[in-house]
Amino acid sequence: MPNPRFCPPAMPEIKLPQLADAAQGCSTDHQAAPSPADDPANTAGTGPSVYLETFGCQMNVLDSQLVVSQLRGLGYRFTDDWKAADVVLYNTCSVREQAENKVWSRVGVVGRHKQQHPGVVLGVIGCMAERDGTDMTRKYPQIDLLCGPGELDKVPLLIDNAFKTKTFSGRPPGDLPTDDDLQTVALQGNTHRRSSTLSAASDKLELIDLSRSFTAADTDLPGETTPGAGKSAYVRITRGCNKLCTYCVVPNTRGAEVHRHPDHIVDECKKLADHGVIEVTLLGQTVNHYHYDHSAAIKADGVWQPQVGTVISPNKGTGGPSPSFNDTTTSFADLLHRIHEEVPAIQRLRFVTSLPRDFGDDILQVIADSPRICRYLHLPVQSGSNRVLAKMNRGYRVEQYKELLTRARDIIPGVTLATDIIVGFPSETDEDYERTAELLRFARYKNSFIFKYSPRPGTAAYDRLPDDVPDEVKRFRNNDLLAIQAQASTEIHAEYVGQTVDVFVEGVSSKTRKGLIDSEETTQLSGRTGGDLITFFDGDPSLIGQIVKVKVEQALPLALSGTLI
Ligand code: SAM
Repeated sequence: MPNPRFCPPAMPEIKLPQLADAAQGCSTDHQAAPSPADDPANTAGTGPSVYLETFGCQMNVLDSQLVVSQLRGLGYRFTDDWKAADVVLYNTCSVREQAENKVWSRVGVVGRHKQQHPGVVLGVIGCMAERDGTDMTRKYPQIDLLCGPGELDKVPLLIDNAFKTKTFSGRPPGDLPTDDDLQTVALQGNTHRRSSTLSAASDKLELIDLSRSFTAADTDLPGETTPGAGKSAYVRITRGCNKLCTYCVVPNTRGAEVHRHPDHIVDECKKLADHGVIEVTLLGQTVNHYHYDHSAAIKADGVWQPQVGTVISPNKGTGGPSPSFNDTTTSFADLLHRIHEEVPAIQRLRFVTSLPRDFGDDILQVIADSPRICRYLHLPVQSGSNRVLAKMNRGYRVEQYKELLTRARDIIPGVTLATDIIVGFPSETDEDYERTAELLRFARYKNSFIFKYSPRPGTAAYDRLPDDVPDEVKRFRNNDLLAIQAQASTEIHAEYVGQTVDVFVEGVSSKTRKGLIDSEETTQLSGRTGGDLITFFDGDPSLIGQIVKVKVEQALPLALSGTLI
């Protein structure tokens, strides 16, 4: 039973780990909810119980892990049963309307539950909170707290205040605490687009990244996105986005691009490796734009501060090196090289997502020269039509994009490629669509994430371009592209039959989990090759979190299948 009279624990200072310099990630709409309750350490606390469900990209999964880490440190427990929770939190995604609709429906259900259990705290955190702001609480008064992705360090305080608000409601005005004491909303609003380097100073979010827990409890969240028994982890390198693609809500919800100090990133990788992590995925909206200018670096309270990203457009997709940075700048290629050289225990280094524009040969070369950097690139193209790309404000033409794919294949033999495509963007004609289909046949991606255009309030496309492609046309184009992709994927997979591949074992396969495999003797496991090809094979679950050799015997449209050797 939720406990409305619970007195929440006092807020301790966030403690920074000892660092040398410090006196320190869309593929699906819904990620398997990080279920901290699966860890006995989480359920054993004495504080209120929390149900946390995560929607959206890898960045949201990492955000949830960091929230879990903060709350656990304060004694909160986690439960998989939202009805038994004192605090229900939804970490949300605004990229497409569908993702938001799922959350609205959850909020409605919890609202009805709260009529019987008024002590329960319902919080919406992440991108929806930032996008909808306090309109959300006016429409859905059952929501007790809102916290944007740029304010997640405040979640414990907001929960604390939400409990207090309930405790104080009904008391005479003289007894009531001040507004500050009862703050239950933390949003960046429009303050996050200030452009100076100093505006990133005293960046509280950096403290959350620095204070992350490295124990398996926080890195081994079950589900597709944080797989491998705590041996796989996300590390943020940039936050926010400066690209202003006309369809995309991310710059509104996550603010301007901010880059973390490379020492903090390398240190985090080292600590993860010390705790047994062997696969790290570097996260950012536009990871290839990562750069940190050491000549402009500043410290606050002994901690190197992140830097607001300057606009870089150095090679305009024509190859050559990345931005003509000065000697004092760590570029994305430099960062990859540093992690590869300084943290050899990380056997697989990945990164998502890249903007195809400004993808320099220096990055491709580092990947080619570094055996532990995965030969896999996720390069969202969005459309094969130059007319549509211009309307999307993507900053490249399809010819430049194709040339990047060719450079990548020349410089990194065996590289696998994936992409994101939006169909039915405003004014997309049959001819525009045909250009996209042509590109898909040319590119031979190992897989594509294909989305129907979803108009998002607050974006330039929403304001200026009518959503004029009928839904049945969007659906047809979506299915047509999926069929083209399925053929390409099957052909690519067929090239692996007979080969032995290294597979990082992520977990038991979903078929096994759902009881669809009729055998008591074998367990079907699922993992990925360095090139991100999903691979199924039978094996003992003790292999989860290890890299094993699998002989490929069968090519499926979405995966490889083989035998452990
Ligand atoms: N940084 C990424 C990029 O390069 O565009 C953005 C990642 S976004 C969270 C994941 C994907 O969602 C995008 O690549 C795009 O294909 C899709 N997407 C974004 N906004 C969309 C919209 N309004 N409608 C449909 N799909 C969208």
